Amino acid sequence: MAKKYVYLFSEGNASMRNLLGGKGANLAEMTNLGLPVPQGFTVTTEACTKYYEDGKKISDDIVEEIYKNMAILEQINNKKFGDKKNPLLVSVRSGARVSMPGMMDTILNLGLNDDTVVGLAEATNNERFAYDSYRRFIQMFSDVVMGIDKNKFEAILDAVKEENGAKYDTDLTAENLKEVVKRYKELYKQEMGVEFPQDPKVQLLEAVKAVFRSWDNPRAIVYRRLNDIPSDWGTAVNVQTMVFGNMGNDSGTGVAFTRNPATGEKALFGEFLMNAQGEDVVAGIRTPQPISTLKDIMPEVYNQFTEIANKLENHYRDMQDIEFTIERSKLYMLQTRNGKRTAQAALKVAIDLVNEGLIDEKEAVLRVDPKQLDQLLHPMFDAEALKAAKPIAKGLPASPGAAAGKVYFTADDAVEAAKGRGEKVVLVRMETSPEDIEGMVVAQGILTGRGGMTSHAAVVARGMGTCCVAGCSAALIDENEKVMKIGDVIVKEGDYISIDGSTGNVYLGEIKTVPPSLTGNFATLMGWADRYRKLKVKANADIPRDAKVAVNFGAEGIGLCRTEHMFFAEDRIPAMREMIVSKTEEQRRNALNKLLPMQRSDFEGLFEAMGEHPVTIRLLDPPLHEFLPHEDEDIKALANEMGMAFEDLKATVESLKEFNPMLGFRGCRLAVKYPEIAEMQTRAIIEAAINVSNKLGINIEPQIMIPLIGDIKEMKYVKEIIVKAADEVLKEKNANLKYQVGTMIEVPRAALTADEIAKEAEFFSFGTNDLTQLTFAFSRDDAGKFLESYYDKKIYDFDPFAKLDQNGVGKLVEMGTKLGRQTRPDLSVGICGEHGGDPSSIEFCHKAGLDYVSCSPYRVPIARLAAAQAAIKDEK
Ligand code: PEP
Ligand code: MG
Repeated sequence: MAKKYVYLFSEGNASMRNLLGGKGANLAEMTNLGLPVPQGFTVTTEACTKYYEDGKKISDDIVEEIYKNMAILEQINNKKFGDKKNPLLVSVRSGARVSMPGMMDTILNLGLNDDTVVGLAEATNNERFAYDSYRRFIQMFSDVVMGIDKNKFEAILDAVKEENGAKYDTDLTAENLKEVVKRYKELYKQEMGVEFPQDPKVQLLEAVKAVFRSWDNPRAIVYRRLNDIPSDWGTAVNVQTMVFGNMGNDSGTGVAFTRNPATGEKALFGEFLMNAQGEDVVAGIRTPQPISTLKDIMPEVYNQFTEIANKLENHYRDMQDIEFTIERSKLYMLQTRNGKRTAQAALKVAIDLVNEGLIDEKEAVLRVDPKQLDQLLHPMFDAEALKAAKPIAKGLPASPGAAAGKVYFTADDAVEAAKGRGEKVVLVRMETSPEDIEGMVVAQGILTGRGGMTSHAAVVARGMGTCCVAGCSAALIDENEKVMKIGDVIVKEGDYISIDGSTGNVYLGEIKTVPPSLTGNFATLMGWADRYRKLKVKANADIPRDAKVAVNFGAEGIGLCRTEHMFFAEDRIPAMREMIVSKTEEQRRNALNKLLPMQRSDFEGLFEAMGEHPVTIRLLDPPLHEFLPHEDEDIKALANEMGMAFEDLKATVESLKEFNPMLGFRGCRLAVKYPEIAEMQTRAIIEAAINVSNKLGINIEPQIMIPLIGDIKEMKYVKEIIVKAADEVLKEKNANLKYQVGTMIEVPRAALTADEIAKEAEFFSFGTNDLTQLTFAFSRDDAGKFLESYYDKKIYDFDPFAKLDQNGVGKLVEMGTKLGRQTRPDLSVGICGEHGGDPSSIEFCHKAGLDYVSCSPYRVPIARLAAAQAAIKDEK
């Protein structure tokens, strides 16, 4: 049987999300639940994939299926597509597996042309409405399908408004709108060289193709990469009978959440506009009314709506984000989906749903997106500093958190300031649109002059966890002149402002921020997560301050202390340099002796911060040239400082030069050539451990880790140096402290021979940063130059340094773990590359049977939650 590419809503259900997309699956489910859904059909995500496989063409059999289903829609509605008297009109919308708000395109009122518009006017007895619908359709079709700049249409609309003294779109008469339609069609012809297409079937196919194409528009691609959405999922297309919110004052359209998406509070929350269509609410053009006022305007519709909202929430057992339209006092449901929410709301909703008996603890743990927790770990305004500050304006508290930064008025300027000059940025826009996505990503905060809580800026900022104040109408924003006026205050590009996404307040200047509190719902949910996870979570931390942050966030140890970071400090680097330029072992030992007490006190600080939690300290790793200057001028200055001849120092610098430092004289190779470095570091570690054990009356068992091992003999050689040095200290101090010597697995050869290496190594820690670059054969510092092209050409979907390449690098991790445990069944295995804080990579580590992940302190809570989710999913 031929594959089916088109499903009527009545043929699907909620479980068919991968095939029908989220929107299509939920429209089908609502149809099954007997809710008032305008009927339609879904062209599947597989049709989208096929469209791309076929070289951006819709195959004839799919076209035929679409027409066949169109005929069924005609029967259901008792209307005819393209009929002059009784025309059927449809909307065409995208809908991927997961919702990508505003990223792809929508076309409404499709099926209108010069004839059907007359029929629609007669059938509805409402000429104004018919032409209003037609002008919207022409604009949407021209913009979305043909790529004609929508501003050109806006300019015509504004001109006609001005000519007729109309303040709002709703003030335009039928005659005015006919004029708009006339000018729109002229513009279309001028731009495209042909008349606006009058054949509804042509309109429909072109629209379907446009939705398929929109899967690959630049903003969708950026959104996918930010949200780990693979490019081969494709989008479905939903073709749905139109209902009209713009039929007069007994019609309207709105969006509502069953709970507050900013706070999680259990109360219907949303906005609507009377006499408006689809995108008017979210586009932020007119400011909508709160949903509660619908109670006064249309009590019956309001009651029906709240009933349906309850039913949907209970059915999906989650907070719903619902779109509806009222056509001549009759309510229609256009969409429902699990609502996007802030992290704060996500925690509250998940915990409330458990208390309400709708879900259990494990389900609650699965409900919170680990990456989103980041929002809660970000600073808030310092209470004292805030007392002294006076808001200059107030907008809507659209996405919580606090931000202070320099004002930029365009996304491009914001990107340049943030990425180019490392500035903290607040993006200020009249309203945002999907094209602004990159500017929004780099911004500390977003401020808009127009639009409500469901405007583009608000929805996207909440998803990203970026603080946002929306609809700040007191701010007169001039994006062209790059200036904003609030009362008497003038804010120019580059001036500092501070915004509070929890209150909506806007302040002039930079207000100090403080770390967040980690109690309440956060603590409850993290407690549940800890109950179910199997992986331990440690932190990568080099100094006591970071170690304390990590413990505060729940770290169970330090998985990686990069000792070299300590050597770059101003008071240490002279001794480090002295060590590097030494000509003899004796000189080197002298210099190392100066470093010893500093290292020892560093380690004491770490051990004190961590108590009996395990601490893994890695021996020196980077190539030595990193500690020396490279320019003649700087070399001269340093030579002077060190009392050396310039030529001498220059010669040392030259001798340390490498063609590829990543593959050069670094890692354990340093210890092989200069064993005294490893000796000194070992001594510092063991002495510190003894001192702190004695001081605190605890048993510290340090773990000494060797970097970049690739061969068992290398491992054996360096381990012997460490053991000898450690035992010497223990004997001197008459102490019997236990310690372990292990290795990083970050060279492919180490993973391949892990059974041999485990004979000597007492623990493994996968250094997936190096393992990734050595497996892919590109360095992490250079990959940025070409990765963009790899994304554009769909060779890679994501950055392999951020998200573990499971098929390649992951195989080495699995193999290394398995081989290592063959030799040493109780071998402790962890990961300390950047991937240790990435949820999908953590899930992989859980499956591969690792003991722990180690990540930067701020990602510890994310890792705890991701580890719990991996365990719960595994159980299921
Ligand atoms: C690694 O390679 O994954 C690692 C943690 O070490 P570094 O990033 O310091 O090279
Ligand atoms: Mg490394």
